[in-house]
Amino acid sequence: MKKHLTVVSPQGTPSETALSEQSLNIGVQVSRRQWLQTVATGTALAAGAVVTGGALLQGCGSKNKELACTDLAGLSSQDRTTREQLKYVDHSPDAAKVCEGCRFWQVAPEPNSCGACTLVKGPIHPKGHCNSWVPTETS
Ligand code: SF4
Repeated sequence: MKKHLTVVSPQGTPSETALSEQSLNIGVQVSRRQWLQTVATGTALAAGAVVTGGALLQGCGSKNKELACTDLAGLSSQDRTTREQLKYVDHSPDAAKVCEGCRFWQVAPEPNSCGACTLVKGPIHPKGHCNSWVPTETS
């Protein structure tokens, strides 16, 4: 007997997936029980998959999804170029120099969402970084 789940890619594209009673093939063969246990604990999100469907799977929604501030829709080509020239990245190579500790950082409107920057246009990750990083002023 097959069960159908909707699998949503990191880009938000849904697709139907059929599960057999015995196993699910997600690149490696695992038992259905192992897979469901992995999803229930949220570790499947590390593979970049968000799964919705049965009641057991409802606990792993976007709440645990890793924040990505890479949607550049609506940015002008100049703003994109500036972002590239300043080498903006979502994950700073130096934990002491992240966007939320930068003078140009603008706080995200709600928790676990992208903030903004007065220099670099577009969504900015609180743990991001670019070559214009300047520490916040301390008084
Ligand atoms: S200037 Fe660079 S490091 Fe500072 S908040 Fe903007 S993107 Fe982040």
